[in-house]
Amino acid sequence: MRPYNFSAGPAVLPEPVLAQAAAEMLDWHGSGMGVMEMSHRGREFISICAQAEADLRDLLAVPAHFRILFMQGGGLGENAIVPLNLSRGGKVDVVVSGAWSEKSAAEARRYADVAVAASNAADGHTSLPAPASWQLRSGASYVHLCSNETIHGVEYQQLPDLAALGCDAPLVIDCSSHILSRPIDWQRVGLAFAGAQKNIGPAGLTLVVVRDELLGQALPICPSAFNYQTVADNGSMFNTPPTYAIYIAGLVFQWLKAQGGVAAMEARNIAKADLLYGYLDASGFYSNRVAGAGRSRMNVPFFLHDDRLNEAFLAGAEQRGLLQLKGHKTVGGMRASIYNAMPMEGVQALVAYLKDFAQRHG
Ligand SMILES: *Cc1c(COP(=O)(O)O)cnc(C)c1O
Repeated sequence: MRPYNFSAGPAVLPEPVLAQAAAEMLDWHGSGMGVMEMSHRGREFISICAQAEADLRDLLAVPAHFRILFMQGGGLGENAIVPLNLSRGGKVDVVVSGAWSEKSAAEARRYADVAVAASNAADGHTSLPAPASWQLRSGASYVHLCSNETIHGVEYQQLPDLAALGCDAPLVIDCSSHILSRPIDWQRVGLAFAGAQKNIGPAGLTLVVVRDELLGQALPICPSAFNYQTVADNGSMFNTPPTYAIYIAGLVFQWLKAQGGVAAMEARNIAKADLLYGYLDASGFYSNRVAGAGRSRMNVPFFLHDDRLNEAFLAGAEQRGLLQLKGHKTVGGMRASIYNAMPMEGVQALVAYLKDFAQRHG
């Protein structure tokens, strides 16, 4: 059995996907070529890419008036690419709920007039700024929200309804670390982006799902390869897309469908998160500092009450086949990322170890 890998990203992938990719490495479907060796313009890869896009649209129920783009540059790349495409050089309101949205605000400042609509910096990014408290400016080009903060472990359980807040700007969400873990309410979204390496597949692929009406407004300085209109017009093949990463993502999408789709994954993710938070709260030995309603189902930062035990905790975890539990350096402590590909058995094994360690050191 492989160890359980709790990395925040790049992160665990479904084992059947890795096995299938290995089996197809030298010869994809009798073509005589591995996927990495194929022209992106050949019929084989075009079919792989079209299937991946159709499966993603199906899984997330993406409406027809949204385009799906396969891009590169990662989440941090999108922090520049979004304002280059959507800001029109005007106002951008950013909700700061953790480290990633803080970076988004800083990068957008290079291209737009950015204001922080709300921030949870004062409580160390452990609560969610409630939408009713956001200071939204009229005439903003868009509002940026990180719907799941991977480092601080805070997640919006519901996307805000900007129209109900009297704001007619489109909502942009960075959903890198919880895409496909739950449904997305597209009525509330103008654009969603996600780096693939958390919950989808290999690093190097970035997904962008964008409303048709938001295309075609890029600033003149926007690089052509990052202009959403250009990418959309060329079916994500204006330049060479990350072909192998798209292929693996496509296998993950098929795996998700076989598991029952996003609703089934969400139910499993709720069960996994409940088990882990439930034990942490009851333990008296560990703690998670995020206010209840804002707790992420995907990324669970936690602390030992005595941080002198951290090294022993990590070494013991590794011996039991529980890998990459060390917390982000800016937060400290531990972090368990329990993405779609982490089975319930992995969380059970983690909780068993947490109990055992607490008993021995409590
Ligand atoms: C990991 C992550 C990013 C950064 O992604 P890169 O691919 O390293 O640029 C951005 N936003 C969120 C929410 C993330 O989890």
